[in-house]
Amino acid sequence: MTPAVLVVAGLDPSGGAGLLADVEAIRAAGARPLACASAITVQTMSAVRSSHPLPVEQVVAQVEALAEEEGPIGAVKLGMLGSAAVARALAALRDHPGLRDAAWVIDPVIRSSSGAALVDGGAAAYGPLLAAATVLTPNLAEVAALAGVVEPEGVEAMEAAGRRLLASGAASVLVKGGHLEGAPVDLLVEPGGSRAFIGVRRPGTKRGTGCRLASHLAGRLAAGVGREEAAAEAKGYVFAYLGATDERLLPGAHPPRMAPR
Ligand code: PLP
Repeated sequence: MTPAVLVVAGLDPSGGAGLLADVEAIRAAGARPLACASAITVQTMSAVRSSHPLPVEQVVAQVEALAEEEGPIGAVKLGMLGSAAVARALAALRDHPGLRDAAWVIDPVIRSSSGAALVDGGAAAYGPLLAAATVLTPNLAEVAALAGVVEPEGVEAMEAAGRRLLASGAASVLVKGGHLEGAPVDLLVEPGGSRAFIGVRRPGTKRGTGCRLASHLAGRLAAGVGREEAAAEAKGYVFAYLGATDERLLPGAHPPRMAPR
């Protein structure tokens, strides 16, 4: 059976980030996406015009319905949550019978790359979820905000900040160094040691790289791949996405099947 990944994130109707990007990345990882909306945004590729978090009960109802009937769920991926109340409610679902055996990949989305706040309460909203994370995937600004340190400028500081989040209960932390000067290094910080993934910088930038990385990682974990390998594969997927001239042409995605005539 195709492993399922249950995502909770915002709807960005432009498809640059959020649920549409998550679904692409999960399918490309060979997994089945189950997509729950936390917020509806009014958004284009250039800006977030507004964001409307959904009521907590409606987010929880989506998750519970899928966990009860559409499992087994191999991974849960949380992205933009919109409100601290939604984050708390999801933390309370960590031990739901349909979700407790899943790997939980938590992307602590605080702001869009264009600067819009995507969760009320800022980084603190993710506090109750740290202990739920199998893999937490902060970028440099997010790891600084969550760990209460200045933004890391190198691998040593990334490691120190990541270790602080392990101490707060995360099982592992993939600190994304895409905004470092020089080569983009991501660092997987685990209790037993750390592993650096040294990338090659592509010119230019694209939206939704964080959403796609975490979702692809969740898809590979759901397929039974280990954390290190899944992180390496997710990084490769995002590298290909950054190089694609049209992001709707999915690297690694299969062409649609034609029905036999
Ligand atoms: N909009 C939604 C709905 C998101 O979930 C996210 C990121 O998770 C963003 C926007 C931010 O994406 P970007 O920083 O690539 O603009």
